[in-house]
Amino acid sequence: MINELQILVEMQKIDDVIGEKISLTKALPKKLNDMIEGVNVANEKVKMIAEELSENKKTQKLKELEIKSNIEQMGKYKNQLLNVQTNKEYKALNSEVSHLENVNSSIDDELLLLMENETKLKEQSQAEQKIQEAAQKELKENEDKLNEEIEVVTAEITELRSKRNSMAKTLPTNIIKRYAALIKNKNRKAVVFNVGNTCGGCGYSLRPQLLIELKKATRIINCENCGRMLVYNELK
Ligand SMILES: [Zn+2]
Repeated sequence: MINELQILVEMQKIDDVIGEKISLTKALPKKLNDMIEGVNVANEKVKMIAEELSENKKTQKLKELEIKSNIEQMGKYKNQLLNVQTNKEYKALNSEVSHLENVNSSIDDELLLLMENETKLKEQSQAEQKIQEAAQKELKENEDKLNEEIEVVTAEITELRSKRNSMAKTLPTNIIKRYAALIKNKNRKAVVFNVGNTCGGCGYSLRPQLLIELKKATRIINCENCGRMLVYNELK
């Protein structure tokens, strides 16, 4: 195999690794963002439950005050009952008292429901707080680690690029340009091996004459379909 082909194969190997590392640098911040998002969601839930709980307690207080004021009013009516002159007055006061008794009884029912809901909210709050703590802990434990990993991978990519570039410098300019364009436009695959009698990059069938030349490896052969540079697979 001519030296240029050997260099191109090595460069492609490096670009494959660069590609993997680039995917990793994209995946790591996403992982971190997902964790931050997890904490935000947990915080929001805890806050919402706390607000609902405080609303519930406020309503309970108001209902209790209403009951108390109704009881006071009933006391007043009962005192008035002692001094009524007519049957009509007596009936009217009595009906006021029994109305207030009914009102209080239904407020009592509402209070019970509110108390039941309060218990449920407290349980929910505890559960959500546990989730919140776990999310915060996960973020705290991973934040520095992931940022460090991103830095390391970014440095590795820079190093690999400079290694690839110094190999590229030994090639003629037109080949470097061609390689760079293929890396950019052909899914980071500039140099591929044949698979049987097809191109390993696009699957296109290679002419027998081309396969013979490929085997000889005395010049750079391009796939007639995708344009990638082909290398005979036994020369891997
Ligand atoms: Zn091809």
